[in-house]
Amino acid sequence: MTVRVRIAPSPTGNLHIGTARTAVFNWLFARNQGGKFILRIEDTDLERSRPEYTENIKSGLLWLGLNWDEGPFFQTQRLDLYRQGIQTLLDKGFAYRCYCTSTELEQMREEQKAKNQAPRYDNRHRHLTEAECQAFEEEGRKPVIRFIIDDEREIVWNDLVRGQVVWKGSDLGGDMVIARIPQQEGETFGQPLYNLAVVIDDLEMKITQVIRGEDHIANTAKQILLYEAFGGAVPEFAHTPLILNQEGRKLSKRDGVTSIDDFRKMGFLPEALANYMTLLGWTPPDSTREIFTLTEAAKEFSLERVNKAGAKFDWDKLDWINSQYLHQVPASQLVDLAFPYWQDVGYVVNLESDRPWLEKLATLIGPSLTRLTDAVQESRLLFGETVTYSEEAIAQLKQDGVKEIMPSILDSLANYDQLTEDGAKEIIKQVTKSFKVKKGLIMRSLRAGLMGELHGPDLVQSWLLLHQKGWDKLRLQDALSKI
Ligand code: GLU
Repeated sequence: MTVRVRIAPSPTGNLHIGTARTAVFNWLFARNQGGKFILRIEDTDLERSRPEYTENIKSGLLWLGLNWDEGPFFQTQRLDLYRQGIQTLLDKGFAYRCYCTSTELEQMREEQKAKNQAPRYDNRHRHLTEAECQAFEEEGRKPVIRFIIDDEREIVWNDLVRGQVVWKGSDLGGDMVIARIPQQEGETFGQPLYNLAVVIDDLEMKITQVIRGEDHIANTAKQILLYEAFGGAVPEFAHTPLILNQEGRKLSKRDGVTSIDDFRKMGFLPEALANYMTLLGWTPPDSTREIFTLTEAAKEFSLERVNKAGAKFDWDKLDWINSQYLHQVPASQLVDLAFPYWQDVGYVVNLESDRPWLEKLATLIGPSLTRLTDAVQESRLLFGETVTYSEEAIAQLKQDGVKEIMPSILDSLANYDQLTEDGAKEIIKQVTKSFKVKKGLIMRSLRAGLMGELHGPDLVQSWLLLHQKGWDKLRLQDALSKI
């Protein structure tokens, strides 16, 4: 049987890290098994679903390299299918109309609370007669459709991650609502709810394995009962561990990031983030191996090696993986990747005419980048004519002799139209010799004068970059005026 798995996000927000990680596991499993990976958009929550979130989810998945083979399918375009399903369940006597009002349900909950019982629907409308239904209709009550859950049932499945899972029917909260009758006149069963739509879709799409977060375990128990009611084949289930923050709680907005866009803006590469996500809950057969592409991971992926315990989000590891990828990126490509970040902070740079200069800059700063955003900090002293001098730099410029050394460097520079690495080194050597000072003094003073700071990327290379822009002389003259 061909493996068919799916990712089924609800477009009620941007692509979330949890959904993306579930997508990674589904994709890896599908590719490992030579199966299909399907994208289904679960947009039945009309109030909260937005087309821009669907776009964000699609572009986020593609950005990560998670291409799908079928879809996207939209649940809102499949309502007839769900309505047929509801009718089937009503006809077979597996579902019924419940006319309880919200006040009655509230009162039920209060009474249960007073008796220290878990809140549940007490199935009171399970056996209404036609006449009773009629009477409620005449009162103007709108029913919901409930699916019968047998309290005595024990639901058992062999989870591909967690092993045998046993769930009691009595722990599922009573007969569950599977559809609401909407307010519009003429509609029959209106809005199908999550569990019903998922089961109908997974059956119709011939899904063989449902791989999703462990927060869906109780839903799985309910869904198995629905599969049985429809007489359909129950897929296998794999519940993946939650992503936790450093405190061991579910990673949330409070941790600063949740959406894939956030990670992109923070300067992570898609390959690195996808690589990191494969390790969030999965251990490769060679557990020391940490760097691999999705395609490489797919060759080795199996659900048996997905851990049961929650996966702690480790920023240091993500940073390390990102730096490994960044350091492999050729300078020409790094320029394109860093460009939006330079633009964002307002550096004046033209991607076409400045390209050779930008590639040299990328070569200079590339090895020190952990995230793409670091390209801003690492190159900030190389953009623009003037700099602001740190106190340290001013103190350096005020050291004995610097006032005389600077004009001498400027004089030597006048001999060069195009300063080269050898030329810059020669100037440093000559000045060191003629002033009989230590090379360190020249280097520190040059750095202070050119960069306004005493720390930064390689001095000679930085000088050459400034020279190509015609900024080195301006800066050294400016420095001289500060002494
Ligand atoms: N729409 C559900 C969610 O976003 C899908 C869960 C499932 O995979 O069945 O959580």
